[in-house]
Amino acid sequence: MTNVDRPILIVGGGIGGLAAALALAQKGFRSHVLEQASEFKEIGAGIQLGPNVFKMFDILGMTAAVSRLATFPENLVMMDCITSEDVARIPLGKEFRERFRYPYALIHRVDLLNVLLEACRKSSLIGLETSRKVTDIADHGGHVLVSTKTGPAFESDGPVYEGAALIGADGLWSTVREWLIHDGKPRVSGHIAYRAVLPTEHVPERLRRPDMAFWAGEKTHLVYYPIRSGMLTNLVAVFHSNRYEEGWDSYGDPAELHERFAGVCQDAKTLLSKIETWRMWVLCDREPIKNWTRGRVVLLGDAAHPMLQYLAQGGCMAVEDALCLADQLEKTGGDFPQSFQSYQQLRYLRTARAQVTARYYGDVYHAAGVVRELRNQLLAGRSPQAAYESMAWLYDGV
Ligand SMILES: Cc1cc2nc3c(=O)[nH]c(=O)nc-3n(C[C@H](O)[C@H](O)[C@H](O)COP(=O)(O)OP(=O)(O)OC[C@H]3O[C@@H](n4cnc5c(N)ncnc54)[C@H](O)[C@@H]3O)c2cc1C
Repeated sequence: MTNVDRPILIVGGGIGGLAAALALAQKGFRSHVLEQASEFKEIGAGIQLGPNVFKMFDILGMTAAVSRLATFPENLVMMDCITSEDVARIPLGKEFRERFRYPYALIHRVDLLNVLLEACRKSSLIGLETSRKVTDIADHGGHVLVSTKTGPAFESDGPVYEGAALIGADGLWSTVREWLIHDGKPRVSGHIAYRAVLPTEHVPERLRRPDMAFWAGEKTHLVYYPIRSGMLTNLVAVFHSNRYEEGWDSYGDPAELHERFAGVCQDAKTLLSKIETWRMWVLCDREPIKNWTRGRVVLLGDAAHPMLQYLAQGGCMAVEDALCLADQLEKTGGDFPQSFQSYQQLRYLRTARAQVTARYYGDVYHAAGVVRELRNQLLAGRSPQAAYESMAWLYDGV
């Protein structure tokens, strides 16, 4: 039922961009994904998937493929970084699934992206191109034009693409957002994440657990969970630092990490000591906004609403965006400006809530002194049902 001769151009082939291509194809819309990297790839790390994104996977017909590769943890567990005792435990088994209808899962990012990519490759409505860095955009009313650079250092002019419309799914440092909104760089949060993946055989047996677990400490926390059928353990160590202005995906300094985690329990130190090479992220987000679209250009995923990772939802929100956008396009019979406006209207408060709640969760995880004691007391007294209800706005999905 496609009603456009030109494809919809999608800038960025990450989780959001590929999910958008799939969701559009399902509604009969042709798209063409332009990715700057030389291949479609994700970083070697885990990602958590809430039940709200499984609802989307169901619609996209991906649930079986994702489930084959995912690990389903038994609990979400918060431990105290000083005592190593459990502070809160949210069961993710039968009761959780009955409540939310879908599971909570952990997966290697490469596996998730490959499921999306394979599904895209099977669709005759989706074009995929790598080594295409979008540098300029023009909205001509009836169509859009996009200029690209190519080559190892993007030194050469690439093709100019003509599309019916443009979706900016180009992440935190979005070029499309800069063109659309001009609101400068993302906010540097002062929080740094070091990530690594460890063969689980290197994790001392007593620390292995079938859970998504983390130690929460003063201005620090350390997450660990199993992926790839428990063969690998994903680690994310987060701490506050104002040493870094900005940056993305560079190598971390183990000496700094050990200094920041000097006050934590021995168990957490033991895990940290197992890793020699960490990748580092300077964590950024933005204030929520509600002007992600103009004419035939619209933003999606981190480009529209980048959030801190404390809610483990940035990727899930990008997939929700994708389905909502495709739905609105179908409803308006392919009226781009109108469907982009209604998509934005449907999404901005939910994603704003995720952005704001993620910051708040960061404060809770990193509490110190009396606030830490208060957190531990309040969370320890919470029933699983109360914990589920506190997440209902998010996990019930859209
Ligand atoms: C430490 C950490 C842990 C996280 N944990 C979770 C979690 O557990 N669960 C969860 O749901 N989310 C999590 N997130 C968030 C999640 O990773 C992001 O929200 C998600 O990857 C956003 O997807 P996206 O497709 O919008 O953007 P991206 O994944 O950033 O993809 C953007 C793509 O666009 C390409 N691109 C950029 N500019 C251009 C250009 N000019 N031309 C062409 N291509 C371009 C990039 O190369 C990239 O492939 C976490 C994030 C961090 C940092």
